Amino acid sequence: MDVNRTNRSPNLAALILVGIPPFLGVKVNGMNSTSPLRRLLGSARIRTDSATLEKHSIDAWLMSHRPDAVVFADSAECVSKVMKFACRHRIPVTVRGAGVGYVGGCVPLHGGIVLSLARMKRILHLNAEEGVAIVEPGVITGDLQDAARRVGMFYPPDPASLRECSIGGNIATNAGGPRCLKYGVTRPYVLGLEVVLPTGEIIHVGGRTHKNKTGFDLVGMFVGSEGLLGTVTKATLRLIPHPPSRACVSAGFRDERAAAAAAVKILSSGFLPSALEIADRFTLDAARKSFQSQADKKSFATFLQGKSHLLIELDGHTRSVAGESRQLAALLRRNDAFSIELAIGDRACEQLWGLRREFSYSLKKMGLRKMNEDIAVPRTRLVDLFAFTRKLSKRHKLLVASFGHAGDGNIHVNIMLDANDPAQVKRSAKALDELFRQVVKWGGAITGEHGIGIAKKRWWPLAVGVRERRLNEQLKAMLDPKGILNPGKFVGR
Ligand SMILES: Cc1cc2nc3c(=O)[nH]c(=O)nc-3n(C[C@H](O)[C@H](O)[C@H](O)COP(=O)(O)OP(=O)(O)OC[C@H]3O[C@@H](n4cnc5c(N)ncnc54)[C@H](O)[C@@H]3O)c2cc1C
Repeated sequence: MDVNRTNRSPNLAALILVGIPPFLGVKVNGMNSTSPLRRLLGSARIRTDSATLEKHSIDAWLMSHRPDAVVFADSAECVSKVMKFACRHRIPVTVRGAGVGYVGGCVPLHGGIVLSLARMKRILHLNAEEGVAIVEPGVITGDLQDAARRVGMFYPPDPASLRECSIGGNIATNAGGPRCLKYGVTRPYVLGLEVVLPTGEIIHVGGRTHKNKTGFDLVGMFVGSEGLLGTVTKATLRLIPHPPSRACVSAGFRDERAAAAAAVKILSSGFLPSALEIADRFTLDAARKSFQSQADKKSFATFLQGKSHLLIELDGHTRSVAGESRQLAALLRRNDAFSIELAIGDRACEQLWGLRREFSYSLKKMGLRKMNEDIAVPRTRLVDLFAFTRKLSKRHKLLVASFGHAGDGNIHVNIMLDANDPAQVKRSAKALDELFRQVVKWGGAITGEHGIGIAKKRWWPLAVGVRERRLNEQLKAMLDPKGILNPGKFVGR
């Protein structure tokens, strides 16, 4: 695999895009009209203006790098043409969905082309009887959920960014969210995929049936592949019946240890909530501050009292949900919850989730850099994890806010720092090293849902063994022999 040449050739990429034949290095007949890429795709699909390049140089993480051009694809055939062209000229291509990833996955580290799927946003087919939706990759996750709901169906994966992120991005990161405790992450909802390989070939893997064991699990190979193995241009997704009712129990605790212990108790007592979320004191304080009005304060009584908090959601038929939520409240009382609030039905539950969804944004409002890690630990380590992050905070004199999906042991550990203070930046790097080492020692994962991207590349060797890393490299080299798709990430160079 000759990835080095790609890596050394961002200027070459720029020359090709503006119409300068790389083998001559001279301009011919007016730049735009002779650009080979414009001739291939038409000008309407290509942008090279500064504002567009800037917008496509970054995601929700902190690192940015400008591409030389942005191509807005509108079909698999268009993607295929781009890939064949890029292969021929060894131009780096980085696929982009909605650009709200948390690890720099869609940042074009080596320049070249950003291939945006944002214009491919049609829901092509929605079949409630079969429980199947066929969508283009740029469909916004929340829009698919709304459309499914209108026909009585449910697409459960629910990243907190669901009003912004795309199905293609969710597939590429195997996105999760609060409901994944009961319903699983994105993978079990992907039945089939149309993928354009880095060489430009268009392939179809999986199908439209809910079960399919034909050959290797190639769907699984592409789900979570972070835009490194191919471009998803169409997805066939599994829908399930929408549960008719839901209830939430909100419970305040005196500290994180008590809340984490109660979370473990819930799951060992025969309850399977659709969501089980935990928050520490620091997170709650930030959320409280961002809720200004008294009306808001009144409707979030338990959130306001506790030093740690659990938000638990149950779904199913109305009567069973109501009965189960009362039993759950009793269990929580026996397990040290000192304030409990019950919410039955969509409207009441959404009010509680309103505050939960505010957590990330209210931390950001503090004006500090928020380093959001999404580690996962075995559930039995939750209590240890909260004790560890408290010590980490003291040892490195850094603010740490932890909250997340307690049921999956998937906690967002946010190190909050003043990015203008070099000493804090240095201490935070050390703190992250310690955090990830400890997580791996417990048998946990350095990322539960966001992926490796650029942000966690440094810890890839800590998390994965040498043979397994080699296998990842071999897979990448087989599918992308020229190393042009999303170079500079955790595989390839
Ligand atoms: C406020 C906030 C809350 C969040 N909460 C969650 C959460 O609860 N759970 C969670 O899992 N994540 C969460 N995220 C992270 C993010 O939303 C997810 O990773 C999401 O899946 C990214 O989708 P996107 O369309 O923005 O993808 P992008 O950021 O555009 O891309 C992400 C990766 O996918 C690749 N990619 C995109 N589209 C395709 C495609 N069609 N084919 C192949 N590869 C592709 C890119 O190359 C890149 O590597 C959150 C982010 C924010 C900002």
